[in-house]
Amino acid sequence: MPNASVNPPIWTESLLNWFDQNKREMPWRGTKNAYFRWVSEIMLQQTRVDTVIDYYNRFMECYPGINDLAAAQEDDVLKLWEGLGYYSRARNLLKAARVIVDRHGGSFPRTEKEALSLPGIGPYSAAAVLSMSYDMPLPSVDGNVLRVYCRLKALEENVMSPATVKKVRDALSTEIPLNRPGDFNESLMELGAVICAPTNPNCSQCPVKSFCLAHREGLVDNLPVRIKKDKITRHHYLVYYLMNSEQNALLIRKNPSSGLLGGLWAFPMIEMSTVDPISEENAAERIRENWGITLIEPSHKGLLKHIFTHKRWSMDIFSAVTHTQAPEGYQWIPLSKISELAFPEVYQKVIRLVVSDAVQ
Ligand code: SF4
Repeated sequence: MPNASVNPPIWTESLLNWFDQNKREMPWRGTKNAYFRWVSEIMLQQTRVDTVIDYYNRFMECYPGINDLAAAQEDDVLKLWEGLGYYSRARNLLKAARVIVDRHGGSFPRTEKEALSLPGIGPYSAAAVLSMSYDMPLPSVDGNVLRVYCRLKALEENVMSPATVKKVRDALSTEIPLNRPGDFNESLMELGAVICAPTNPNCSQCPVKSFCLAHREGLVDNLPVRIKKDKITRHHYLVYYLMNSEQNALLIRKNPSSGLLGGLWAFPMIEMSTVDPISEENAAERIRENWGITLIEPSHKGLLKHIFTHKRWSMDIFSAVTHTQAPEGYQWIPLSKISELAFPEVYQKVIRLVVSDAVQ
């Protein structure tokens, strides 16, 4: 248990007073129900509040309690998650719900160690749920909190470094108010979201301005320090939207359940070593060589780009008719069923491109 403060520094009181008067309405706020707080925290990772609210409400309509979620099919959970991105969050949510029902009697665990052993739960999520639901004084340190705290204390360490995250977490552990740890965590996140923004923070309206060293020392625009290693990889693909006109069906496959876009549906695609333009004849030749599929009248629909956290995809999209048997791993799925399947945003872009082209 961290060494939390009995007499918190005054900045924490200013922050909590501001939060009490200014916090935004959100469907999960005002409850200590650990299931609600957990689902909302997972949805909020990498995603804006405005986007999450509708997804959260729909999710709770389908799975109002943890037993409902634990009994769900993965396909149905992924379908509900469609468009929210970072789908491993949904798969882990389902796995963790089953663990909680099987091993913890259906209640989110009450110790940090047990919470951290659940799929998809890291130090940030564990601290968020345990503080907001069970009043445990654990600081939850996300990007917003790091930014605010580094400015508040004029810390010049690299926030991309795990050592800095630990330093901030340790420091906050000594300052978190024992009587309102969950509200304190939420108030810091809220301040980062609505006042202490990454660019042009609204310092004149900030409740902790008089305590902020970056503001006092003119360092606001220089903090936090972010030094990022370039781990981003770039990939170029030929993507095939293939119709069987006799069956009125589309050739797709379901990705393996782990890895990027795991458990979601995908089109046939071939990775290329260059981004050089490729003719329709060459694209047809490639898929014939790779999978023995013969295309009838292939048509180049355009170039699409998609950004993942650590990957950049560019894709040349080809549509064609073919009557070849589905290669191993692929299926002909009737067009009438396509809307029931979970496609990630990258392939929804492909569908929109081909469908909009067809109706023009
Ligand atoms: S004074 Fe400005 S930089 Fe400091 S915490 Fe407030 S908004 Fe952020």
